[in-house]
Amino acid sequence: MTPDLMRAGAVARRAAEERQIAATAGRSGGRETSYSRIVRPGELDITHGAILYLDDITVSFDGFKALNALSLSISAGEMRCIIGPNGAGKTTMMDVITGKTRPDAGRAFFGQTIDLTRLSEAQIAHAGIGRKFQKPTIFEHHSAFENLELAMKADKRVRRTLFAKLSSEERDRIAATLEMIRLSSSADRQAGLLSHGQKQWLEIGMLLMQEPKLLLLDEPVAGMSDEETERTAELFVSLAGKHSLVVVEHDMAFVGRIARKVTVLHEGRVLAEGPLETVQNDERVIEVYLGR
Ligand code: ADP
Ligand code: MG
Repeated sequence: MTPDLMRAGAVARRAAEERQIAATAGRSGGRETSYSRIVRPGELDITHGAILYLDDITVSFDGFKALNALSLSISAGEMRCIIGPNGAGKTTMMDVITGKTRPDAGRAFFGQTIDLTRLSEAQIAHAGIGRKFQKPTIFEHHSAFENLELAMKADKRVRRTLFAKLSSEERDRIAATLEMIRLSSSADRQAGLLSHGQKQWLEIGMLLMQEPKLLLLDEPVAGMSDEETERTAELFVSLAGKHSLVVVEHDMAFVGRIARKVTVLHEGRVLAEGPLETVQNDERVIEVYLGR
């Protein structure tokens, strides 16, 4: 077995363990009963339209409030961009949503019923929140196609072997994803040889193979050429509606291109929210960006 296949196997095994833990927690009754509910796909309750609702979240580091009573709501199917000067709390917000950081106060709802502040990182990923970091974590020695195949087979919701032959539906799904991320003509190319932008798209494709209900992306076009940035904008526009996305990005041309609604964070809370043109002309926003 190659190291990459072993890595993918380890991911799948860990997922199986998590499933076991979640199932056991479900049997013990009380609050944990909800744990067994969240591991079943397709059960997210979005009856009131919001897929994510942050309620009065505070995170302190040695007394410094990186998030200060932050409240924020994202609709199902929405593409939301989060902007704000360095240190505004954007990454900390992502860390709270994914369970990497526990807030000192406040709650974070995924759908109507799941309080993310009570779940582990693995349980949150399992519940359907995918996160893309800046540095792509792809399998460099495998082809683009195989990367998507490995991502699909590491899917936390499906118990299957890495060596099982792909069904024609699975092949079709991979082909459709390659098309969406514009890598159809590079399907057999070793991932390590792809351009920076193509690697970023491949990682987005790997996340999509696991069909997350909410996708978080931190600076997805950082380091991309203008051409790659434009293609990424097209990709994101095609994802909106079908997927819910929260995108942290500094490139305002890109932000204006993909999002109808932009949230400006400053000092750990929402400073302004609305269409990019509106928030860009907001005096408070101009002040924090220009330091006047
Ligand atoms: P952004 O992503 O908007 O630039 P961050 O969320 O990374 O902002 O950081 C918000 C503030 O919290 C910054 O002042 C940062 O220095 C501080 N901070 C973030 N993580 C930690 C940490 N682990 N320990 C101490 N301070 C931190
Ligand atoms: Mg950051």
